[in-house]
Amino acid sequence: ALTAGIVGLPNVGKSTLFNAITQAGAESANYPFCTIDPNVGIVEVPDERLNKLTELVKPKKTVPTAFEFTDIAGIVKGASKGEGLGNQFLSHIRQVDAICHVVRCFEDENITHVSGTVDPISDIETINLELILADLETVTKRFQRVEKLARQKDKDALVEFDILTKLKDAFENEKPARSVEFTDEQLKTVKGLHLLTQKPILYVANVGEDELLDADENPYVKQVKAFAATDAAEVIIISAKVESEIAELDGEEKDMFLEELGIPESGLDQLIKATYSLLGLATYFTAGEQEVRAWTFVKGIKAPQAAGIIHTDFERGFIRAETVSYDDLVDAGSMAVAKERGKVRLEGKEYIVKDGDVIHFRFNV
Ligand code: GDP
Repeated sequence: ALTAGIVGLPNVGKSTLFNAITQAGAESANYPFCTIDPNVGIVEVPDERLNKLTELVKPKKTVPTAFEFTDIAGIVKGASKGEGLGNQFLSHIRQVDAICHVVRCFEDENITHVSGTVDPISDIETINLELILADLETVTKRFQRVEKLARQKDKDALVEFDILTKLKDAFENEKPARSVEFTDEQLKTVKGLHLLTQKPILYVANVGEDELLDADENPYVKQVKAFAATDAAEVIIISAKVESEIAELDGEEKDMFLEELGIPESGLDQLIKATYSLLGLATYFTAGEQEVRAWTFVKGIKAPQAAGIIHTDFERGFIRAETVSYDDLVDAGSMAVAKERGKVRLEGKEYIVKDGDVIHFRFNV
């Protein structure tokens, strides 16, 4: 399963946020594929469409889809020099598929800031620089292998040599690999390098609990937004402290509390949605009388693979996917009417599943 890692300097609110994630926590029994590890938090993906489908189909049970956040503690300055904790930190980041970078935007004189003052840009740059230096080392090592072959005019080596040169230039200018433009063909080679700064990233601005309402006016948040724009990254504003309170509430209590706060959606829910899309994930649904359920897939997969997410037998014996788009189904009001209107398609092995598809798989056992 894909996972997003939560990183940030010490004392920025990572643990508080991660505790909110595990508190809000999904029933792991529903998600046998998820990792059982104290550093992994499973979150359910809030999805209005699932509620609507539940109203429509009135199943016995409704199951949202879920994915994982990994808590990555222990960034220290000099991590890229590869000693002890620093090394571990980098290898943990290497294993995640996207990065949520928590940045301190709250003032609190009782809580020490590692560098003495609240300065989100300097915080971001501290971590990014460690990641860039680690990538520079990866690229430098790779150069040593490719250089000789390139001199002998080996074709693949020449192509890679170009790519490595571009990357090295970027790193020496303290720019992440994400910022370098490559063709799709080149990107395949870049992916093979498993660079840390190639991973998609979003910034989480952690503001004080009393600043949540006009957080856009917060000068620190403004700085983070301006920086993120240069990194083609999104910014989610949360108050980790408030999230840890929200996480203890459920259903109606939660809605009431959000209303009191004057926000339509919890920061955690916003973070979950943004991270889901950052990971390139999308949702299809199954809607039977027993169970209405949301399923996560990686964008671009075909119908048999999507069936395999439910059960490997579904993939092996795949015949057809009876498919209707969420919008057409809701418009029709019922599966029967959708069928009458010809909105239910019989899709085959080559069908590329779309976000919001409601699917009934036909398969041989
Ligand atoms: P970590 O080191 O990044 O994991 O940071 P923690 O989550 O342990 O937070 C460090 C301290 O900051 C703790 O005492 C938290 O209670 C506090 N903290 C976290 N978020 C907020 C916030 O939004 N407002 C205030 N005032 N304190 C916060």
